[in-house]
Amino acid sequence: MRTRPGICRSKSRYESEAAALRVAESAPFALRPYRCGLCRGWHLTSRTKGMKLPAFEVERRKAEKLRLRRP
Ligand SMILES: [Zn+2]
Repeated sequence: MRTRPGICRSKSRYESEAAALRVAESAPFALRPYRCGLCRGWHLTSRTKGMKLPAFEVERRKAEKLRLRRP
């Protein structure tokens, strides 16, 4: 993903994908870590459309689907 310099500066930066994932996991909405080409760090984006979801988000959605199926 291309990152604009303004976005990079204004976003939180994480030193590893794991660190970014920990934050994403505790967020109330879907966030996806991505590697920034500008700072070589990791940022989080809420734009998950058409992107591969992180494992925990896939599990979360699977669980939600199962929950909805049961009366
Ligand atoms: Zn950056």
